[in-house]
This record gives sequence, structure tokens and C-alpha cells, in this order.
Amino acid sequence: MGCFDSVYFGCPDRQCIGLVEFQSKAGGCDLEVFQPECVPLSIAGDIEGDVEMCPECGTSLKVRLLQSTGTVAMTVERDNDR
Ligand SMILES: [Zn+2]
Repeated sequence: MGCFDSVYFGCPDRQCIGLVEFQSKAGGCDLEVFQPECVPLSIAGDIEGDVEMCPECGTSLKVRLLQSTGTVAMTVERDNDR
């Protein structure tokens, strides 16, 4: 059973072919794999600041947001279950 989703980043070292996996339990947790260019907000907020080691070269890599998430649009709607 899956209990996390993953984002894979290529190692920033140009000499290195390593892929670094960061896992999050904040999303749907269906063992989904996301590209760094399109990470769901909940997962991005969860893994931001996490540090993992490149499996190829051993460099410690920390995730950071490329753009500030700032604010998101929200609304309310009638809860028709009540
Ligand atoms: Zn590497």
C-alpha cells in the first residue's frame, strides 16, 4: 500500500546523473510521482526545506520553492450535506 507521493529532482551537479527522491505524505498518497515543474501546493509546502542526499554523488540537497506561493484563491460554498 502506498502511503506517500514522490517528487524527483535531477542532481544539480552537471557531472552527476543522480535522481533525488523527496517523499511527502501531504497529498493523495497514491504513490504518485510529480515532476519538479508541477508539484501540487500541499506537497510543495510539505517538502520545502527537506534535505536528501544524492544517491550518486552524496551531495546534500535541500528543496526550496522557485516562486513564493504567496496566496491562493479560496471560496466557500453551501454545505448541502446539512
Ligand atoms: Zn549527484
